[in-house]
Amino acid sequence: MKETLSREQVVRWLRAAAESMGEQKELLTRLDKAIGDGDHGINMDRGFRKVLEQLDGAAASDLSGILKTAAMALISSVGGASGPLYGTFFLRASAAAAGKKDLSASDFHKLMEAGLGGVRQRGKAQAGDKTMVDALLPAVQAFGEALSEQQNLTSALARGVEAARRGAEATVPLIARKGRASYLGERSAGHQDPGATSSYLILKALHDVIA
Ligand code: ADP
Ligand code: MG
Repeated sequence: MKETLSREQVVRWLRAAAESMGEQKELLTRLDKAIGDGDHGINMDRGFRKVLEQLDGAAASDLSGILKTAAMALISSVGGASGPLYGTFFLRASAAAAGKKDLSASDFHKLMEAGLGGVRQRGKAQAGDKTMVDALLPAVQAFGEALSEQQNLTSALARGVEAARRGAEATVPLIARKGRASYLGERSAGHQDPGATSSYLILKALHDVIA
């Protein structure tokens, strides 16, 4: 079975992610109020609004160019830590998609691995540090495992999204070791990480588009 992601689906993913960031702005802000400075929802909503704006001018861009447009929009419009981190994710994803008209499931796995690698390199967070890595890493792993079990793109992505959701939930008892929440030390425990939550929502937006 040939199942790929087209440029058009990637555009729809980014639009769906933008819509989700708008809808979940209050939730993300509330989570960040508990262990940060309460701007994560505002940051993500602003960043993805900028992505939408820039997409309008990117009609001629190929799939890799679309991802790069998203990266630059996030980097240029989000002041918080999450902007450069998500920007790096999409920039590395763009490089991994260079020259491709469509993405196979395996291409998409490589793209996510590249994006996650960029986040880890830039933010230096390990698994369990209570960051977006705690959603992204299990998602990429679960997606890869599903592919090795011959699952198609949509069902592998469903597994990845579920792993991201569980990963975000599993940040609740953790003590933050990176980012603003780490300033709270033990008081950061008992709250879900906002960035892990937005990572789950962004991946879910893609599943919602292709399923
Ligand atoms: P800021 O912390 O600058 O206010 P945001 O509130 O937009 O930025 O984003 C906070 C989120 O960024 C955190 O919940 C966490 O998931 C993520 N984050 C912060 N620092 C790092 C890091 N070093 N590596 C990975 N993710 C990080
Ligand atoms: Mg914040």
